[in-house]
Amino acid sequence: MNALTENWPLEFPRNTKVVLSIVIPLYNEHEVIALMYERLVAVLSSLGIRYEIVLVDDGSRDGTQHAIKRLASEHSTVTAVFLSRNFGKEAALTAGLEHAEGDAVIIMDADLQDPPELIPQMLSAWREGADVVCMRRRSREGETWLKRSSAHLFYRLLNAISDVDIPPDTGDFRLLSRKAVYALRQLNERNRYMKGLFAWIGLPTTFIEYDRKPRAAGITKWDYLGLINLAFEGITSFSIAPLRLAMGAGLLTALFGILFTLWIVVKALVLGDPVQGYPSLICMIAVLGGVQLLSIGLLGEYIGKTYYESKQRPVYLVRDVVRRGKPMDHAASRSTAKSAKKDSYATL
Ligand code: UDP
Ligand code: MG
Repeated sequence: MNALTENWPLEFPRNTKVVLSIVIPLYNEHEVIALMYERLVAVLSSLGIRYEIVLVDDGSRDGTQHAIKRLASEHSTVTAVFLSRNFGKEAALTAGLEHAEGDAVIIMDADLQDPPELIPQMLSAWREGADVVCMRRRSREGETWLKRSSAHLFYRLLNAISDVDIPPDTGDFRLLSRKAVYALRQLNERNRYMKGLFAWIGLPTTFIEYDRKPRAAGITKWDYLGLINLAFEGITSFSIAPLRLAMGAGLLTALFGILFTLWIVVKALVLGDPVQGYPSLICMIAVLGGVQLLSIGLLGEYIGKTYYESKQRPVYLVRDVVRRGKPMDHAASRSTAKSAKKDSYATL
């Protein structure tokens, strides 16, 4: 038993010959998939190592599924994982990581915003001993000022109040060593804010700067509501600071209430001022009611999270897997589901 398996004793189905896995989540990306595959393979084939490309279809409704199926049947290096419906990028990434067999795994978006030409640089950083090679955006071409500055603000806020340190200006584009993938597989929460999980595992990390390109084709799958949800998810998954804030607000309001009451008593008894009660009463009720409802809502958010976690549902369901040109046989998929049950994995 070598040092790696001693430290990380999770069983994991793998093909020891695969050096590098590229994991790509796809949701309605048929416009870009051919171009993406072409650019990716041009880089990978020049490396002279065994590689696999894990394409995870996140319940696409355009021609993406068909295109992935064709690539997987024509090229033995392509592994296709079809999820049973759209579970979201975070779940699709988890599925990809759980199916990747390589010694190093690179996570990329399908839309070529993460240039495949950087792969050799990432590999050499990994060979020099990094377990995580994190790609940091020097610029974000093609993204609006509002998106850039709100992202900037969000990461500063999250880092200030959370238990983990998420490096600013990094996305999901990164290389993970087998050790880092093992580590991630041990985090089996249902609520998967990947950037937070990546930061939580620690391990030696190298940063490489790059220029983020605009989308090669197609449209972004995120709208502002989705991004706000993700931001809220990130904060409530990695910090209970909002609860403390609510407690602080409650304390302040109570203190103010006591002082105000004292003042009214003094005004009525000592100064003999007849109390004009109605406006002040309404103000107090409104402020108190607001603070209370806000705090209950916040509490409810955390209770809701606990409720979802307690159901222990899998993060995603797999409909089909095509590996090395063939559909994965039933026995294989069943055994994977069994061995990885605690890793939030399931196969239909
Ligand atoms: N994606 C996914 N499931 C979703 C939404 C997005 O797998 O529900 C994938 C999408 O196909 C792409 C990546 O996540 O490969 C990033 O999405 P997108 O480019 O739309 O996000 P942005 O770059 O605008 O943040
Ligand atoms: Mg994109």
